[in-house]
Formats: sequence, structure tokens, C-alpha cells
Amino acid sequence: MIDETNFDSALDDALAQEKPFVPPTPQSASTEPVEDDYEPLVINNVKFPRGAAARIRAMAPDEFKTWVADRQKAYIDPIYLSGILGMDLQEDPQRALFANLITLRGPQVPWSELDTIHRKMLLWSRGTCKTTSVRCLEVEIILNYPNARLCFLTGSDELGKAQLRALKLLFEEPTERFEYLFPEFTLKSVWNKKTSQWEDKRVEMGNSQRFSVPARSNTVLAESTFQISTAKKVKAGSHFDFIFIDDLVNETNYQNAAVLERCYQNYIDLVPELDPSGYIVMTGTRYSHDDAYGRILEKATTGEVNLWSFSIRDCYSRGKCINCHHSDVFHDASVNVLQPPCMCGCPGFRSDGIPGVIFPQVRLKDGRLLGFTLEWLAQQRAEMGDAKFSNQYLNQAVAASQQQFTEQMIHTQTIFDAKQLPPWQTETFIVGDLAYTPEETTDSKKRDETVFWVFKRYHGALWVYDGDSGRWGANDLVTHILTAIKKHRPTAFFLEKNAAADALMNQIIARAPEFMISKIPIQWIPQGNVKDQKFVRIAGIAPVLVGKRLWLSASMPGYEKLKQQLLQFPRARHDDYADTLGLCVECPTGWASEAVPLAAVETSLDWLRRLNPAAPVEPNYEDSGAGSGLCAGPAGSETAGWK
Ligand SMILES: [Zn+2]
Ligand SMILES: [Zn+2]
Repeated sequence: MIDETNFDSALDDALAQEKPFVPPTPQSASTEPVEDDYEPLVINNVKFPRGAAARIRAMAPDEFKTWVADRQKAYIDPIYLSGILGMDLQEDPQRALFANLITLRGPQVPWSELDTIHRKMLLWSRGTCKTTSVRCLEVEIILNYPNARLCFLTGSDELGKAQLRALKLLFEEPTERFEYLFPEFTLKSVWNKKTSQWEDKRVEMGNSQRFSVPARSNTVLAESTFQISTAKKVKAGSHFDFIFIDDLVNETNYQNAAVLERCYQNYIDLVPELDPSGYIVMTGTRYSHDDAYGRILEKATTGEVNLWSFSIRDCYSRGKCINCHHSDVFHDASVNVLQPPCMCGCPGFRSDGIPGVIFPQVRLKDGRLLGFTLEWLAQQRAEMGDAKFSNQYLNQAVAASQQQFTEQMIHTQTIFDAKQLPPWQTETFIVGDLAYTPEETTDSKKRDETVFWVFKRYHGALWVYDGDSGRWGANDLVTHILTAIKKHRPTAFFLEKNAAADALMNQIIARAPEFMISKIPIQWIPQGNVKDQKFVRIAGIAPVLVGKRLWLSASMPGYEKLKQQLLQFPRARHDDYADTLGLCVECPTGWASEAVPLAAVETSLDWLRRLNPAAPVEPNYEDSGAGSGLCAGPAGSETAGWK
């Protein structure tokens, strides 16, 4: 924990000792001898350093063509640029991450025209390389617009300085490839008196608070190319074109209410310094319900909504799209929840049914592992506890509203890996809620669906792993019931008894031979006469979930719809999926009287350990996620040594 008072005075001491920052002298300054008929090389209004200019002019036509093309690509393709900068960003998912921030279109397009929404918030699971990606985007912006003024705000001055250093080093000590493509951003022509020659030299570009790149041609601007915002150092009246806010809430400050308040205040103070054509890019991970992100989200939903775009992602993925083969994360549910369109133009996400993780694990050239596996996430969840995991990997701060079901509650009881389900030979049950709808109802939205849930009873808990639903006529209903019986061979198929029960039973008996079913396990459940029965039944699911006596499979059909209905309860427009889940709990399957073996009061991790023994976490495991914000690949260092 940083002691804020001491830290500030330490920072002031450090600043006092530091050389005052002198902006880099423009290339036409008086250090140059008066000269000659030298014709400078100017590209995109930037004068190139002389050595580099000579090298470029000497290029063979083919090499020059490639050089120009590669530069063009680096302007607009952040993943390509990240490779040039020596970063480990991946197509999946970081291209989707960049798409949610700012998409650059080359130096010829003014930044004001890049997007209609100028405030972007991206809250993605910890470990998705947000900080590295933001740094890559900052470089991309500087390359496109050498005169842009960037400001960076983070949770503490110390973090801000570290971030600035990391960014500055990309220019001061560039990779060979970066300097080959963009020498005007790393080198300066310096006159060597001894040799009476011009030399291209790497220069210091600033101090711990700010820096400017040599390619900057506008020397009138008071602000540097990039500067960090600290409580005292950004003067009112500064102007910025891009404000980056990364990890405002982090490991070092999230537990201290006063510091959190100051962070939020810093943000509020900084916003007026944004130029009207500028952008705010805010990235991070949730830490608590009333953190700065929560407050901004809340504000945004009460008026400022059009100013911001939000991308909020947990660590899981619903698989790949069978329409376009891109991962879930490339599809934007904020446009359309039911059919999220893809960046590629695919009309809507349709899962291949193989749930996974947002950042599929990759092995880098140096052997390090980057990204997640389901097993590794299960381990994180067990070690961090549900609340912290929910914040940092699910980006769900615990809701303090009257909501009866929270996403956290549901996620905690959701199985994302089919290997964690009970053994197949365990007893199976099916429960169904029949929707009888008057034929004259033409508005299909008003009609409830018939819903079946298929579940197992195991170790005193119910494990719902499959489902079926639809708006069926009598004959289709019989077909679906008999198909489910044939597929799952349930011990019992519970249906709520209603006026049509006898007729339905006769139809089922009549068609059973067709499905080669000799024993029909249907049990009719008498309808209770409790008022508000539906409400009581659905509300009753909550304690069973919290008590870890009910598990849901993320890959079963209808899971998302069920989740939505629970989250919206009691104000959901439809609750047929949730109501049927309530029936699962109420049916006489005997789960409640079954003794819960000690081994069954276990987390999904313990399940996993038994099925698939995993290596323990290394004792020297260091927290290197969003908190420090500094690692080039947080997940890489976290997963290094795994497997
Ligand atoms: Zn798609
Ligand atoms: Zn796609």
C-alpha cells in the first residue's frame, strides 16, 4: 500500500532534483551550421533525419515500395505494429480489444473524424493485455499524429511514471525494425564538430513526467507529446487530444476509500482539459462496486449515455461463431444481445457450442505461455475467492440493488467445462413446464415457451446440463417429449399437471412405440394453489444456488436466456426458463435429503483436481495483473510454469 502523503513529498523531492525539462530543439535550430543546398526528405510533413534520409533515398525501388507499404500498414494495423514494437499481442482477442478503442486510418484522416463516439471504456478481464495494448495504441496515435498531445492518468503517480518510462523507451531504445520504418521518431540529426559531419543520433526525449518525439513539427504547443497526469502537475488550461486512463482503480488503491475518491476526482478534474475533438480511452478491471468505473457507468446510464461506448468482457467465451469462425469476443452484444454482429460483417453470433476462454492460450517463441485455459481460471477462482474473481475476471462488481439474482451468483454456479459434470451413469431427471397458449395469440412475443431442463442428482446437488424449448403444437410437443426420453433415459420426467394432462398422456402412449420406448417415466406434479406461486418458486432458486446445491452448464441450450431471466427477475417480461428451473428444485428428486459428502462441498476446482490433477501454483507466483499494470504480458507471467 502506498502511503499517499509520503509518496507525494517523495515525488516532489525527486522532481526538485530532476533537471528541468527542455523541449527538444527543432531540427532547424541554431546548432546546425548554416548550410548548403541540402534538400531535406519530408514525409507526412515530417522532416527526416539526414542519415536516414540518405539511406531511404538509396533504397532500390522494390525495397522502397515495401518500406512505404509496411509503414502504411503500421499506421492502421495495431497488431502488426505491436509485432514491430516487440510486443506479444495476438489476433484473438487483442484485435477485438483494439476495435473497441480507436481505429486509426492513417495520417491523412484527422482524428476528429475517426469516430462519432469520443469516450471509450473498456473493462475486460484481468490478464487480457489491456495495458500493453493501450501502449501500442499510444504509439500508433503518435505515429499517425506526431503533433497530438496525449495525457495519461492512472491510479498513482508511481504507476504513471512507470508507464511513461515504458512508452518512452519504445522510442528512445527502439527495436531495429521500428527504427528502420520510422527513423523520424527515434533519431535526430546532430552536427559533429570533430568530424564536421551530420550524424543521426538517438536523443533523450524528456523526463519522468513528459516527453516529446523528434518527429513533432509544431513547437508552439505547450504540452508534450505525452505526459502523465498527477494531481499537482497538470495545470488547468492544458489541452489534450487524447486522454488515456488505465488502471485508475488497482491493487494498490482499491481498499482505500479516500484514495479511490481522489482517483475519481483526478478523473473529473482532467476531463475539462480534453480538446473538443479529442478522445478519452479508459481501460481497467473492476475492483469494487463503487469504484470509479462503477460511478462512470452509473452516470453514463443516467444521461451521459451517448457520450460513451462500453466494452465489458469476462474471461470466458461462448466459443467460436459458426457463421464467421471468429471468436465470441469479436461480436458486439451491445448492438444486439440476441444476435451480436461481428466486426467482419457476420450477421450474428451463433456458437459452435464449445465454450472456452476469452484469451486462448498461446505459446510464445521464447516458450512462455500467454492467455488462459479453463483449468487455470478455475484455479484462480478458487484461490481468489468468488468475490474477487467476480470483479477481476468477470468484471461484475457485486450489485447492491434489489436484484435477487446477480451475475456473480449465477456464474459461480455455472460449469464452463463439461468435464466437471457428474459421471454420465448418475440418475437423470427431466422437468418440463408446458405452455398452453390460446391459438388466437398471433404475437409470438407474448407467448411463453414450453421449456424442458435435463439434470442429474449427484452428491446432494442438482446439475442442469441440457435443455429444450419451443412453441410447439400438440404433435410437436409429443415428439419433443419422446425424443428427450429416448436421448436421456430419465428416471422421471416431471410435468406440471393441468387440464390437458390426460389427453397429452394418451398421445404420448400412442406414439411411444415409434420411439421404441416401452416405459414412460412421466410423473405429473399437481399444481399448487399458492398465490404468486411463480414468484415464490423462482425466488426459491436463489438460496439453492448460493448453497451450491444447484449447478448450471454454460453450454446447454437456453443458458443465456435463463441467465437473463434470472437477472431481470422479478421484473422480467418472460420467466418461463426461470420458472422451469424453479420446478427442478421443487420436484421430488430427493436432492435435499441426500447427504452432502464433505467432498461435495467443494469448488469446481476440487472437482477438477480429482478429474485432472493440476500442478500447484508456484510459490514465487507474483501478482502481475492489472495491479502493477506493467508487465508486457500479464497472463504470460502468470501462466508461466504451468503445465
Ligand atoms: Zn460471427
Ligand atoms: Zn466474424
